[in-house]
Amino acid sequence: SYPVDVEAIRADFPILERKVGGDVTTPGEGPDDTEPLVYLDNAATSHTPEPVVEAITDYYRGYNSNVHRGIHQLSQEASVAYEQAHDRVAEFIGAEGREEIIFTKNTTEAENLVAYAWGLNELGPGDNVVLTQMEHHASLVTWQQLCKKTGAEARFIRVDEDGYLDMDHAAELIDEDTRMISVVHVSNTLGTVNPVAELTAMAHEVGAYSFVDAAQSVPNRPVDVGEIDADFLAFSGHKMLGPTGIGVLYGKQHLLEEMEPYLYGGEMIRRVTYEDAEWEDLPWKFEAGTPVIEQGIALVAAIDYLEDVGLEAIQTHEELLAEYAHGRLTERGDVEIYGPPGDDRGGLVAFNVEGVHAHDLSSILNDYAVAIRAGDHCTQPLHDTLGIAASARASFYLYNTKAEVDKLLEAVDAAAELFG
Ligand code: PMP
Repeated sequence: SYPVDVEAIRADFPILERKVGGDVTTPGEGPDDTEPLVYLDNAATSHTPEPVVEAITDYYRGYNSNVHRGIHQLSQEASVAYEQAHDRVAEFIGAEGREEIIFTKNTTEAENLVAYAWGLNELGPGDNVVLTQMEHHASLVTWQQLCKKTGAEARFIRVDEDGYLDMDHAAELIDEDTRMISVVHVSNTLGTVNPVAELTAMAHEVGAYSFVDAAQSVPNRPVDVGEIDADFLAFSGHKMLGPTGIGVLYGKQHLLEEMEPYLYGGEMIRRVTYEDAEWEDLPWKFEAGTPVIEQGIALVAAIDYLEDVGLEAIQTHEELLAEYAHGRLTERGDVEIYGPPGDDRGGLVAFNVEGVHAHDLSSILNDYAVAIRAGDHCTQPLHDTLGIAASARASFYLYNTKAEVDKLLEAVDAAAELFG
């Protein structure tokens, strides 16, 4: 049964009371009036509960100030809250301490930070970086371009017909010349949950490092960096009830110590002369300039919220919704679904309805107030491999209900009828 008390949770999300749609493409084919929003685009961005909004407004109303360098009281209050936010994130993902937690803008910036600060200095001809065919562009394009710059080779672990990584192929690709593997934990297109601990162990066996893209896993399941033994791991606040403008890069302390800074400027230095500069301690060495103060503080409220509900409960809730949607869509007979079976995936379903372009489907669904994503979901090469240009994606979160999946199905019916 569904373990999350959705009704209580929805009360914390005023945006879910909005009515949208009603802009019917073909008059008479859809509802005339606006309908309650059915938000199934959570893999792109989640909504923000009241405690997170309050954390943001409390900050601006109460103690807005720059951090680290102020001696006045507001600056001290902001500094303490901002610095403790790193401790809270460390605790949340099982890191050793704040030294291992760098606040970035998003997952994408975290990938770039490691690619430039580590890769640019470490990679060269003869080296290789191993990725998967289901990488998000955040990781794929970053390492692809860094390989071009350094002369290293980018390799891609194949995805099999059921949407799983071909682990024999992984064993072939990860060799003595591999320096880094970058793998997505939960695929934002296929919903596949990848064996990131096993892949990390394979990387370590040959002396390579691992970067885990946890943008779609940290929001909805317990993730422990120690269990995975990841060298680097990244995720985005806006996909886990937090604000936009904040991402997290976790890195093992000894690696971060050895790495050169990624950005230079204020706040990341200890001493500067006209000739040279010394770097601040971790994690500040990697947070140049005025950092994401409000966002970091608000991320703590998001983590508190997620832990109050329970990450295991959220995971189960989401997986049950995905399984239900997968089953109902499969029953139709005119729907192709990408990725693993319904009972073995994260909380999302990407699909195409025969004869209906994903963008048209999304537009009809919008008329029914159902918000989904259509396109390639930043996995263009994977879509090429699947032989499709685009897909529709419904992604679930802790505030979604089975009735909302039914609404999705109703709207899919209407779209299929319209185009059939
Ligand atoms: N990786 C995955 C798996 C994602 O789903 C996303 C967001 N779609 C990203 C990386 C990039 O996240 P951001 O846009 O917040 O950098």
